[in-house]
Amino acid sequence: MSATITPFIVEHSYQQLPASLFTACQPTVVSAPEWLAFNQPLADDLGLPEQYRATEAGLQLFSGNNLPDWCQPLAMAYAGHQFANYVPRLGDGRALLLAEIISCGGQRYDLQLKGAGPTPFSRGGDGRSPLGPVIREYLVSEAMHALGVPTTRALAAVSTGETVYRDEPQPGAILCRVAKSHIRIGTFQYVASLNDPELLTEFTDYVIARHYPHCVTQSQPYLALLDAIIAAQAATVAHWMSLGFIHGVMNTDNMTISGETIDYGPCAFMEAYDEKTVFSAIDRRGRYAFGNQPAVAQWNLTRLAEAMLPLLNTEQAEAIQLATAALENFSQLYHLNYRQRMAAKLGLTNPAQDDDQLVTGLLQLLQQDKVDYSQFFSQLSQQDPASAGELFNNKSSWQSWLQTWQVRTSEQSLTNTQRVKAMQQVNPALIPRNHLIQQAINQATEHGDLSLFNDLKHAWQHPFVSKPEHLAFSQPATAAERVNQTFC
Ligand code: AMP
Ligand code: MG
Ligand code: MG
Repeated sequence: MSATITPFIVEHSYQQLPASLFTACQPTVVSAPEWLAFNQPLADDLGLPEQYRATEAGLQLFSGNNLPDWCQPLAMAYAGHQFANYVPRLGDGRALLLAEIISCGGQRYDLQLKGAGPTPFSRGGDGRSPLGPVIREYLVSEAMHALGVPTTRALAAVSTGETVYRDEPQPGAILCRVAKSHIRIGTFQYVASLNDPELLTEFTDYVIARHYPHCVTQSQPYLALLDAIIAAQAATVAHWMSLGFIHGVMNTDNMTISGETIDYGPCAFMEAYDEKTVFSAIDRRGRYAFGNQPAVAQWNLTRLAEAMLPLLNTEQAEAIQLATAALENFSQLYHLNYRQRMAAKLGLTNPAQDDDQLVTGLLQLLQQDKVDYSQFFSQLSQQDPASAGELFNNKSSWQSWLQTWQVRTSEQSLTNTQRVKAMQQVNPALIPRNHLIQQAINQATEHGDLSLFNDLKHAWQHPFVSKPEHLAFSQPATAAERVNQTFC
């Protein structure tokens, strides 16, 4: 692509908010930064000047070693429920907001360095990131974007030349994350905890102006905001569920107000279908298991509604009533979104309530026979959908499901070719498989070899296209390759 000269607009609106919401903080210099990855198309969207791309100035910026004048780094304050336990002060313990960029499309984006050294919120942590989690977040967040899921993005990754100590010494790295904002449910919880009605109003007005400006014209703007956030999260979580994505740490500080998926820690895509699937090593009781995600999202949104209560009505009983009705709506919105997405996966253009049975019947079969979720839908999207039968042990149940599905699809006006095409546009041929991510991390960490990381990054930009050279990436892990636990 030619070096387009785009206007580069930088602002610092978060800094205009009251000082209790953040702390100015500089990154800590690292000894020997080197490039790991740079996201050219995203840089184009942001209009990031050429001088900060594959250049020394770019390396200085993305390592935090020498920030340009247009960066004014700060650590954001937030609270949060971690595994249901309230922690009143979390905040950016290893991240710094550098600036807000207005993209070529007019969208405001935060530019954040993750792993740039300790901040006043580090609580004894080192403020750093090992290379492995940076690679995982880069790969999975960019794959989620390519899959069409609202998500934070990865603009750049650099290694630091320093060692980070976790269970064992690991190379350090820094990720530059891009998000519509880093405002979380936990940010609202923090603001509410300060017991300052004016601050809560000012902050919420800022959120409305930044993310949901249409709420201003509603008769009850704050209730409209709550509705909008609930709707955004219902859509995002339904999208996760349709793809088999498991976030892994759905703490309230890891859920954005924008509806973007954030904080790719021990996340993973489900292989064999099972609602109880948990990958995260720290999720011992399965709070954040695959099938629990919609209920957890609603629980988190309830914490948001609690923080917003004083804004909804001066009478607490009235406010609770309004919030309760808004939260009840989550289930309905979630189910509508999920039905729509699952119907599309089955090639049904006009989802009906009866289709829910077709979906639950299928999921039962997948679970019984431990069928790989993504592989099944990808195979069902081929010219010969019956070939997906090879994935099942229980052939008669499969045959009877297939027949019902075929009757249902034949009722539509789509030709087979049209249906196949539509299905291939929603059923990825490639998902970020856990064993591949782990192999890429191992190669980079142990041998400084970035080739698999680069190959995966490239392949996962086009998850709906099945190319012969990516066949190996489409296959589920073999028993020897399988990675059952992820760490953040
Ligand atoms: P997370 O589990 O990534 O959502 O992080 C939860 C909290 O722990 C946030 O306040 C983080 O900023 C903080 N945190 C995580 N890792 C570190 C670290 N290495 N150093 C300092 N703070 C951290
Ligand atoms: Mg977090
Ligand atoms: Mg994290």
